[in-house]
Amino acid sequence: MGPVPPPIGGDNHAHRHDHDDGGLADIELRVRALESLMIEKGYVDPAALDAIVETYETKIGPRNGARVVARSWADPAFRRWLNEDATAAIGSLGYSGRQGEHMTAVENTGDVHNLVVCTLCSCYPWPVLGLPPVWYKSAPYRSRAVIDPRGVLAEFGLRLPASTKIRVWDSTAEIRYLVVPLRPAGTEGWSEERLAALVSRDSMVGAGLATDPASFAGGPAA
Ligand code: FE
Repeated sequence: MGPVPPPIGGDNHAHRHDHDDGGLADIELRVRALESLMIEKGYVDPAALDAIVETYETKIGPRNGARVVARSWADPAFRRWLNEDATAAIGSLGYSGRQGEHMTAVENTGDVHNLVVCTLCSCYPWPVLGLPPVWYKSAPYRSRAVIDPRGVLAEFGLRLPASTKIRVWDSTAEIRYLVVPLRPAGTEGWSEERLAALVSRDSMVGAGLATDPASFAGGPAA
């Protein structure tokens, strides 16, 4: 394992951010004002801004992360690499860039379930998961994920055995986490593409599990 920092709850956790956490409406107003000003001054091309937003909304999303997880399930060497240097391993699949410069993969096991939050705002691994869902940015999730992770997971419909330890990881401007969910039983010999279809966005944040193929409508996949 690489130099993985301890989960939150320890005494020395430093949460470094480049920005303050204002209200959403306030941020929207500021963004709009800045955008108007920059366009007016000719600093940015509105079409280029639209293209960036469009890219993150439609081209970069959780299917990227699902391919990373599927590769980790299927390829032991990749799995080791992912655990040691997630940024490089993920980059080898072509997923890199803003908000993904310092990635850490945290693997679920039979005993430990990992959950990711950003307690101060909404730090999130964009290159592998796209833009964060609304609930990830909400104040209740950000505070309660730390105080009562088991209760929060139950609200997502995920009830873990009392014996399963839940580790909560606090994302920062510097480190972004990708949860590698447990590989479902009954998927031995599956192709990476087929495995990737079982990996949801929520399962890579820790708010869910990978889909059990036995739960597919029509029974187990052939
Ligand atoms: Fe943040």
